[in-house]
Amino acid sequence: MHKDLLRLIRGEQPVLRHLAVTFAAAMAAGLLVLVQAELLAGVLSGRFTAVALAAVAGVVALRALLAWTQGVFAGRTATGVKSALRHRLLARFRELGPVRLAGHRSGELVTLTGRGLDGLDDYLTGYLPSIAVAAVVPLAVLVRLFAADLASAVIVLVTLPLIPIFGALVGMTTKAVTERQYRALTRLGGHFLDVVRGLPTLRAFGRARYQATVIREVAGAHRSATMRTLRVAFLSSLVLELCASLSLALVAVPIGLRLLGGTLDLSTALLVLLLAPEAYLPLRAMGTRFHASMEGVAAADAAFSVLDRSDDPAAPAPGRAAAVSGRPRIELENVTVRYPGRADPALDGVTLTIEPGERVALVGESGSGKSTLLNLLLGFVPPSEGRVLVDGADLRTLDLETWRARLAFVPQRAHLFTTSVADNIRLGAPAASMDEVRRAARAAYADEFVGELPDGYETRVGERGANLSAGQRQRIALARAFCRPSTSVLLLDEPTARLDGRSEAAVVAATAELSKDRTAVIVAHRPAMIELADRVIRVHEGRVVADTTRAEPALAPPGPGAASPQQENAGDEIPTSGRVER
Ligand code: ADP
Ligand code: MG
Repeated sequence: MHKDLLRLIRGEQPVLRHLAVTFAAAMAAGLLVLVQAELLAGVLSGRFTAVALAAVAGVVALRALLAWTQGVFAGRTATGVKSALRHRLLARFRELGPVRLAGHRSGELVTLTGRGLDGLDDYLTGYLPSIAVAAVVPLAVLVRLFAADLASAVIVLVTLPLIPIFGALVGMTTKAVTERQYRALTRLGGHFLDVVRGLPTLRAFGRARYQATVIREVAGAHRSATMRTLRVAFLSSLVLELCASLSLALVAVPIGLRLLGGTLDLSTALLVLLLAPEAYLPLRAMGTRFHASMEGVAAADAAFSVLDRSDDPAAPAPGRAAAVSGRPRIELENVTVRYPGRADPALDGVTLTIEPGERVALVGESGSGKSTLLNLLLGFVPPSEGRVLVDGADLRTLDLETWRARLAFVPQRAHLFTTSVADNIRLGAPAASMDEVRRAARAAYADEFVGELPDGYETRVGERGANLSAGQRQRIALARAFCRPSTSVLLLDEPTARLDGRSEAAVVAATAELSKDRTAVIVAHRPAMIELADRVIRVHEGRVVADTTRAEPALAPPGPGAASPQQENAGDEIPTSGRVER
């Protein structure tokens, strides 16, 4: 059995119980076959009276009941295991954070948690119970055969192991083949999502048709991989069937001859003929189920590799309650951040202290590490070297949930969910009243355009904010931050990047209001926003190159590099800070 799954099941008491009932029902049903054969042989040979037929009917009914029980409990086991796995995966995604998940394609993760894990159904409801049956029933049948007729029992004993041997031989190729099939499936899922999201861009650049061919190719690869697994599965069943049939013939022929010769009584002969197939059946069933369950096993392997991936530098100790409330002092001590697969650090030995209530503007050209610094404060990326201290406590030892509850964050590319505008605004404060939502929207200068939407605040936002302009999306994201009045730290990543002059002035004014009595770190490139700060920190290639308190002239006006080219690229969300946790 899959050892990681076993570990998971052990930790889930209800699942363990359901699995135990499933096993018990499957094995009992298997063993009842012995009773059934006994009775049937007796009736047919005239040893028992016809009354025994009623007993046979009873046994059949009981087996049906057991099969039903097995089905129900196996279903519950599967649901329990899948939901436990999904919960863990989601918790893990949360823990990894948007930045470290960026290495995976979101479509692949979607396929894994959704369809992929559903593949476990066959494993849990089919293959596992069949193992239990295969472990018990052939043995019991053999014992009974030995008691009834030594010669036949020996033939069964010798031929029985052939089935698992052939099964294992075929199974060895199966694993590789199914893994290939599963990989093709996730690739297909990943690529499909990517293309669908980027369709407008692809259209505009005339590449939609080309992508269609790519999808066709990936789908073709999946199809041929599936055909290959099916071929192996059918071949394997054929081999096992053949093996079992030949073995049965080896039992049946001598029985017939001895019956004719009069050296065997009818009742024993019938019993052996009825029982012998039952010794092979569970093993054959196990072989068939094995193939059906392989896809689920591949998905489980993928799931556990995400769960067990240990790339967290010093996994945080179970979070100490984050430092009290109030405006914190934030210190970076010689912090270096490296993204996996990047040679140059995104932040390089940064040391700075942000005093409580200070309003800091972060400036610097695109790619200099501004968003990375915010990700660091959010706990999305861990420092590779150095420490981040909140009121003197290492961020790694703090409970990130409590810490993040104190932050109001507007990412560079905010994600809007397909729900009402109001719910999008109260994302970080689910209990907020409609009044509070409206107030937040007013502060972010979103009130006006929201009022003009068909259903006002109840208008459903299209997928990823499709029915809103970039500037409108940005203002809703700002309203989100405004809707959390209890936060003490404000983190804004280029909040005015996509706004026209008038909205920009309004948002700057609102930000000034919001940042009162809060510690604020604002990535900014427009003078109006920078004016607002009491301190301007310029970063360049991951280093702090200028740190001016009370910004008057110190900064160069935003050059062409300042308007980050990636801003408009709203197509791929997950890789950077655009994810908002619920
Ligand atoms: P800024 O916000 O100042 O434009 P970022 O902090 O986003 O810059 O990026 C700093 C550097 O880190 C850039 O070179 C960028 O390519 C790299 N980078 C940012 N995010 C990731 C990531 N998820 N994986 C790998 N490299 C990244
Ligand atoms: Mg940035």
